[in-house]
Amino acid sequence: MAGATTTRYGQFINGEEAPGADGTHRPVLDPANNRPFAEVAEGTAEDARRAMEVAEKAFRESPWAGGDGSQRVKVLLKLAQSLEAELDRFAELESRNVGKTLREAKGDIQFVVRTLEYIAGLADKLEGETIPVPGGRLDYTIREPVGVTVHIAPWNFPLVLSVRSVAPALAAGNAVVLKPASLTPLSALAFARLARTAGVPPGILNVVVGSGRAVGETLVSDPRTRAVSFTGSVEVGQRISELAAARHIPTTLELGGKGPVIVFADADLDRAAKGVIWGIFGNAGQMCWAGSRLLVHASIREPFVAKVKALAEKLKVGPGLEAGVEMGPLVSPEQLDRVVGFVEEARRDGGTVVTGGARLTDAARAPGNFLAPTIVEGLPPEHRIVREEVFGPVLSVLPFTSNDEAVRLANGTDFGLLATMWTRDLATAHSVARSLECGMVGINDPPLTFPQSPFAGAKSSGSGFEQGSRVVEAYTRRKNILVNLGAPRAG
Ligand code: NAP
Ligand code: MG
Repeated sequence: MAGATTTRYGQFINGEEAPGADGTHRPVLDPANNRPFAEVAEGTAEDARRAMEVAEKAFRESPWAGGDGSQRVKVLLKLAQSLEAELDRFAELESRNVGKTLREAKGDIQFVVRTLEYIAGLADKLEGETIPVPGGRLDYTIREPVGVTVHIAPWNFPLVLSVRSVAPALAAGNAVVLKPASLTPLSALAFARLARTAGVPPGILNVVVGSGRAVGETLVSDPRTRAVSFTGSVEVGQRISELAAARHIPTTLELGGKGPVIVFADADLDRAAKGVIWGIFGNAGQMCWAGSRLLVHASIREPFVAKVKALAEKLKVGPGLEAGVEMGPLVSPEQLDRVVGFVEEARRDGGTVVTGGARLTDAARAPGNFLAPTIVEGLPPEHRIVREEVFGPVLSVLPFTSNDEAVRLANGTDFGLLATMWTRDLATAHSVARSLECGMVGINDPPLTFPQSPFAGAKSSGSGFEQGSRVVEAYTRRKNILVNLGAPRAG
């Protein structure tokens, strides 16, 4: 249990922090050593319902929803500034909670700041249209907030993936209830406090921490919920869809991936190798859009895999907060076991482990969830490790001999989130980009996004989108108003 040095966090409901309804707490562990460093109130279905009640009341009564969008611009910009001023504190919290390196965590918080700035500017630009209609009539549309929106986030980029949907929902004038992942609730709670100080009225942004089943399902099923944004696994996304469909609630689903990285023979191989490394070992591979399948032209397979192997073996793996570390631990012992299970199965089935494949068990790292950067080859495209989401630092290699084969392999999973490719040939780049069944394509870059670019998946990777200038509209309802201006009634 938590020792004297741990910090205690509550739920954040109605603008203040409070213990959960049943008074229990759960420890929050540091993935670098699995020791508790904080504890957090464990929410229940009762807490979820209370948050919904508070949010619905705030939506009806506070000036946030009905008020002037330019006020929301100011508050969201102030929130961006407060977060930027506390970037180091938030980055440290995120790094300690997830295990990611401090450098990565700083990048995450910077992305959140930039998201808030970008989205803030959209809060007073929710325009309607006037539509020509027959007779002496005026027809126009307005955009209204939908009411209470529910947001459920995963543990790999806790604040980024919370705020990228919470910010547009707030900008549109909704009231929000956010459920962060049970493993990584701290940055969301700290953010809600900051939002209150920046001027988000009480009840407009609530955070309920608790299990997916108790808190998540209660929020999605609540009769007051008007929209749901979910980022997480395909299985849970399926469950959320079913619950939401029963009440015709719109959902945005950002789910898993098994991203292909296609390296053509004409690519700048040094740049491509670095891109492959970042795409699979960044955040210890725990990225929905990780480039986890390397599709490499057969003519360059050997030298290219050797390059990637050399870079992988140079990566410094250790606690995220330690200076110079380039890859942190996995988020939990369960996640580590799951990833190791995939690698063991690959080995049993005749795969070659080119590098890594083992836990790091020296005295400093044994208590944490550390795995060496791993590359596996020699398995067919149907093998589980090549086709399913491992969600860890494990790269599978497949050779191809023609552009058609590369596209066939790239499209050969149920997922379709981000595909990246490396080539100097413009015709190849653009024609292959069009043939890929996915929501995003990156050319000559590692996985990269900006708040102004839509983030979306195809096939099992999800539906709807986050980010981009249209995202605020996704949290509004379009209402049509038709006015008879005194025209005589048409025939
Ligand atoms: P997860 O198990 O699906 O959990 C995601 C969130 O859903 C957590 O807050 C979880 O709560 C909650 N949850 C679990 N069961 C629920 C239920 N029955 N009803 C409502 N909510 C429920 O995913 P994860 O393990 O945290 O994250 C890894 C997955 O997320 C990977 O598949 C990854 O690809 C995907 N992901 C996708 C994107 C994207 O943008 N496409 C981005 C990042 C991650 P608990 O924490 O309490 O279980
Ligand atoms: Mg999970």
